[in-house]
Amino acid sequence: MSYTKHILSKSTFTYGVQCPKRLYFHKFRPELRNPEDESQQAIFSSGTNVGLLAQGLFPGGVNAEPPDAFSYHLSVAKTKQFIEEGAKIIYEACFKYEGVLCAIDILVKNDNKWCAYEVKNTTKVKEPHIMDAALQYHVITNSGIQLEDVFIVHLNNKYVRRGEINVQELFTKSSIHEQVKEQQKFIESKIIELKKVVADKIEPVVEVGRHCDNPYPCDFTDYCWKNVAVEERKSSREEYINKEYLSEFIGGLQYPLFYLDFESVIFAVPEIQESRPYQQIPTQYSLHIQTTKDSELLHADFLGDGLTDPREVLIKELLASLGNEGSIIVWNQTFEISRLKELARDFPQYEKQIFDVIERVVDLMVPFRKKEYYHPEFNESYSIKKVLPVLVPMLSYSALEIQDGCIASLIYSELKNQTEEKRDEQRKNLLEYCKLDTLAMVKILERIIKV
Ligand code: SF4
Repeated sequence: MSYTKHILSKSTFTYGVQCPKRLYFHKFRPELRNPEDESQQAIFSSGTNVGLLAQGLFPGGVNAEPPDAFSYHLSVAKTKQFIEEGAKIIYEACFKYEGVLCAIDILVKNDNKWCAYEVKNTTKVKEPHIMDAALQYHVITNSGIQLEDVFIVHLNNKYVRRGEINVQELFTKSSIHEQVKEQQKFIESKIIELKKVVADKIEPVVEVGRHCDNPYPCDFTDYCWKNVAVEERKSSREEYINKEYLSEFIGGLQYPLFYLDFESVIFAVPEIQESRPYQQIPTQYSLHIQTTKDSELLHADFLGDGLTDPREVLIKELLASLGNEGSIIVWNQTFEISRLKELARDFPQYEKQIFDVIERVVDLMVPFRKKEYYHPEFNESYSIKKVLPVLVPMLSYSALEIQDGCIASLIYSELKNQTEEKRDEQRKNLLEYCKLDTLAMVKILERIIKV
């Protein structure tokens, strides 16, 4: 069979729509790509394969998936053959039209009419999904398959797992047929424009801007933003400390002080009973306790075993440690309060006590977010990872095995697959990581008190 390589695929088309320079770099200057971000990698590689699970909505299909990422021509040929043989359900059906290649997750024939289903691991239809599907519609219909309807299959965030996963309840099918048809003129003109970028092999002139992060983070930002970042650093302000504000903030704290930090895991498809798609499951906490201004610093913590649902034991132990009085200091209260509210919803027997705890939460990030304490080396960020090295240079995450919350989350979700020895070692690393987060808050508050 004669075979010509495709010019655009769904991903390269998407890159080009976001920024023609991104498409050009992807095709001709891949060496400029940012180094791989391990924590992003961790999120994408964890959890159940949503696409595979969604095939259960239409069981008994034939699979046109290519044997490897370089053999999509085989997938196109297989799809053609399946259709000719009268297949009614095709997974990973692949088509090519005038140099544009597209696969669709599931193609289903009902009463002689075809419907296309594209699976997304989000909990709703997003704008870029419609453009993806519009490109798929263009390629499929021009390949001679008339589509009766086009659906995005996404996760249903109301679904609560009880027992085995129920795929019919886990997924929602949303028709986007009308939106997809409306986009056809745009798709046709973009294909012409982007094919020209590939044919010309000339770097397009595009300034950096909001499009660099929208709708997806571009993977060439290190290269494009290099000089911009230097310029911004030159013009940043001097250190600023609003002592009056800080003294009021400190005055509002009540001893005993509890410094609390949660770590959590997220599963797109719920792996734990009584949880929902993308629910953040708290798996551990660290708690530093200072009973009075000059008392010794105490520490308590909890970490799930990675094998069972950690939530109820976590709540019981946390409530016992927190008692009934004293400020509970966190960094970025939205995260901790959201986890506490979810615990109250899922374990209503503790609801009253959990809401009493929420009333006592104080967010140590606020003075930094409001720039009442500002330092140019925070680099316009108020993450604890940026603030800590400036205010308390002696304390650092760099000596720890785990230095990042996303990695901590991945390691926890992998505990169940480890040997007992490896699990013990990883649990020790997780405890140390979380402990440093609360110790960092202790030291940052000490520094605020001094100024
Ligand atoms: S960083 Fe911005 S300008 Fe550079 S290629 Fe990516 S999207 Fe385009």
